[in-house]
Amino acid sequence: MIRLRMPSDLLRRLPETRPIPLSVPSLTGSEWAYVRECLDTNFVSSVGPFVDRFEHEFKRRVGASHAVATVNGTAALHVALILTGLRPDDEVIVSALSFIAPANAIRYVGAWPVFCDAEPDYWQMDVRWVENFLRCSCVRTAKGLVNQATGRTVRAILPVHILGHPVDMDPLLDLAKEFDLVVVEDATEGLGAIYKGKPVGTLGDASCFSFNGNKMITTGGGGMVVTPRDDWAARAKYLTTQAKDDPLEFIHGAVGYNYRLTNIQAALGCAQLEQLDAFLVAKRRIADAYESAFTGVAGLTAMPEAGGVESAYWLYTLLVDEPVFGMDSRALIAHLRSNRIEARPLWQPLHLSPAHADAPKANCPVAERLYARAVSLPCSVDLDPDDQTRVIETILHASRRG
Ligand SMILES: *Cc1c(COP(=O)(O)O)cnc(C)c1O
Repeated sequence: MIRLRMPSDLLRRLPETRPIPLSVPSLTGSEWAYVRECLDTNFVSSVGPFVDRFEHEFKRRVGASHAVATVNGTAALHVALILTGLRPDDEVIVSALSFIAPANAIRYVGAWPVFCDAEPDYWQMDVRWVENFLRCSCVRTAKGLVNQATGRTVRAILPVHILGHPVDMDPLLDLAKEFDLVVVEDATEGLGAIYKGKPVGTLGDASCFSFNGNKMITTGGGGMVVTPRDDWAARAKYLTTQAKDDPLEFIHGAVGYNYRLTNIQAALGCAQLEQLDAFLVAKRRIADAYESAFTGVAGLTAMPEAGGVESAYWLYTLLVDEPVFGMDSRALIAHLRSNRIEARPLWQPLHLSPAHADAPKANCPVAERLYARAVSLPCSVDLDPDDQTRVIETILHASRRG
């Protein structure tokens, strides 16, 4: 078969060239029916059957003991970190290459992030870095494990499963056990991913999910805390619903939060959850097509998947090696955008973030290298195969031009 390649400047002039977004939701299941049910029954707010149903179905799907819905993923992280009993000035080891929310949540409770570099193979939290930090930079004292550089106590690890690929959890959990650290998983990008037969989000003491518009499933905005611990689940429900002890007299036993998900949002969540398996299949199909297009192209590295794990392939990301490809990641992003294809870099590594300039200094060269090279590509679950071909052709053409 002869495959015609169309130069991108010609494509740009074609009137039918439509924009291809990075990642948009697919709302073609029971969303309308369930939301209509909320409106018809007047249950639009923070109580209603869909909230309980979403929590129940979510925990069943993920294989967790308890699930507590929250208003968004950042709130889920905040609550999870409160559950751990972190105290002001404690330290939490967190992935440097991540969206900023987990580091912010650490600051919300007055603790400090210790930024951990990424490993080069799967771009996740580098467990060897964690081990080295714990063994070489910390000492055990009466008040706990103390970071010698700061004098503060290290109490928790917050691995972020970025882009849908699991962190290497077994050795991390071994270290947590050895050093008596709590583990909170940020599984917001890893819904549906599997680590050695176990679902991501069931491996830590608590795990957090997000249902923002660009996540694997969406409720418009929303989140979930899951945990195997009965007491933590009860506490999470209590804290996220204003810590109300007496609903008639409005007696509150603690400073709580209004972190509730509404019934309408939960209705969307129930409908989306029914489609999660289909979404995961679609994400993998998209990743496979990119993988076969980019493998062997000089200067490009397709998104990796470790042995023994199943990535959720939440956000398909490519690495560009400028000297070989002839164009750097930012130029490729601009080139794609000029062809009406939405592409974007990864997040600025958090140890470089002005928002966390007062955190302990960190050296994360791998995270910086990945940040310099990464390009996230369109991967909506409804991505039209012809559109994906256009993305691929535009990239391959850019490389020949360069
Ligand atoms: C999206 C995301 C969050 C936050 O979720 P929101 O629902 O937007 O608050 C947290 N951590 C990571 C890694 C994310 O990608």
